[in-house]
Amino acid sequence: MLTVPGLCWLCRMPLAVTHWGLCSCCTRAVVAPLSVCPCCGLPAASQTLPCGRCLQKPPPWQRLVAVSDYALPLSMLVHQFKFVRRPEMAKTLARLLVLAVINARRAPMWQKPDMLISVPLYRHRQWRRGYNQSDLLCRALNHWLGCRYEQSAIVRIRATSIQHHLSARLRKRNLKNAFRLELPVQGLHMVIVDDVVTTGSTVGEISRLLLRNGAASVQVWCLCRTL
Ligand SMILES: [Zn+2]
Ligand SMILES: [Zn+2]
Repeated sequence: MLTVPGLCWLCRMPLAVTHWGLCSCCTRAVVAPLSVCPCCGLPAASQTLPCGRCLQKPPPWQRLVAVSDYALPLSMLVHQFKFVRRPEMAKTLARLLVLAVINARRAPMWQKPDMLISVPLYRHRQWRRGYNQSDLLCRALNHWLGCRYEQSAIVRIRATSIQHHLSARLRKRNLKNAFRLELPVQGLHMVIVDDVVTTGSTVGEISRLLLRNGAASVQVWCLCRTL
């Protein structure tokens, strides 16, 4: 996908606001509200009550907000953001996430967050990519939503194998003790921001770390939620 300044990345129509990247029609199509469980973010009958899976085995976080599932065209944009070294896409993608959060805010039991945190990459991976996609999303969200953002709240203290090919159980083991908390979070409502949540093992591990340290609640905000 080649982007032309001033034209929508997806439909190539001229943009009302040049730096937004996506026109209002494409934005609406990407952020179309899905019927998903507010807890795990997976397809469910009710958008206000936890699904059967979450009632039986609640995830370690309290709420998950995603722009959409991992489907075109968002999956293509996220792939480019991460793997084709296009950090400038962060603001447009974060804007989609803001819209999803505004939709989610209307739901009952919405908790206003106190602090955003990004998922840290191991040093070597960040050095190779040149940026951390979760950090770039947080910076834009911090600017628009006015939530406190602490870039180094969580550090990755050891490298972990690439997760894609591991089973859920091996992912969990792979991440055990991979992170360390650097700030007090006692009594705070936290949000972990990630680009794609698949099994949720990474954000789950960070959620448990935050809750063990006294966080009042944890939400996960992501661009894509998939399994
Ligand atoms: Zn468009
Ligand atoms: Zn659920």
